[in-house]
Amino acid sequence: MKLVSWDGGFGRLSDDGASVVPMGASLVDWLATGGDGHTDGAPVDRSTLRLTAPVPRPGKVVCIGVNYREHAAEMGREPPPVPTVFAKWANAVVGPEDDVVVPPGVGSIDYEAELAVVIGRRASRVDRNAARDHVAGYSCANDVSSRQRQFETTQWTMGKAVDTFLPLGPHLVTADEIPDPQALAIRCLVNGEVRQSSSTALMIFGVAELVEFVSSMITLEPGDVISTGTPPGVGAAMTPPRFLAGGDEVVVEIDGIGALRNTIRIEA
Ligand code: MG
Repeated sequence: MKLVSWDGGFGRLSDDGASVVPMGASLVDWLATGGDGHTDGAPVDRSTLRLTAPVPRPGKVVCIGVNYREHAAEMGREPPPVPTVFAKWANAVVGPEDDVVVPPGVGSIDYEAELAVVIGRRASRVDRNAARDHVAGYSCANDVSSRQRQFETTQWTMGKAVDTFLPLGPHLVTADEIPDPQALAIRCLVNGEVRQSSSTALMIFGVAELVEFVSSMITLEPGDVISTGTPPGVGAAMTPPRFLAGGDEVVVEIDGIGALRNTIRIEA
């Protein structure tokens, strides 16, 4: 199933994407109750809905840094021995119909195409072999970053957790439709130009290892999001660097999931 959310509801997309069957008020509540106990509503035209992120207010957004070897190399880093974890908060999450809004004075704006994992069942100290039982599904994320702010200090948070800096969507594809999350082509396009083109096969730590590692210390709840890191090709690693400008359209595409499209807006 492809699940979409809007203000006050969620539902499943038809195969052609033209209509939505409403399933209830909250995708996260539905996940938390085990994915049943809903009543289908009458189908509505998809174009009449303004979609939010599938999980518009996740309790946690756990982000993984330098999780592809070639991205580590392009950023001048060694591949890490354990996952590099940082946080974004719900304020960063926007949906497929929203802009990324850059606050005044925040520069060097970059894109990072990432596979997002949405937790379906509470996960605490979960073994990697059982980890995927706790995954509801997958979506596309753009870990928008201000390289200027990210590298001003040793802590990345102020360059990463900015309001609107985590577009997520356009829908959640349930895990049963993704037999192997480590075999997905992933791309980022800026104004139609391919900037990143890789495969989730090249992650250093795969989805199951990440759920195991994070849940060994932090309980993951239904609706929590893990953004699994970006492949090579970020703007900061180009010579000269190619950062995003106002009006740029950034698309994150993952085969088997979909395409997430957002426009950059710079506030003066
Ligand atoms: Mg990232």
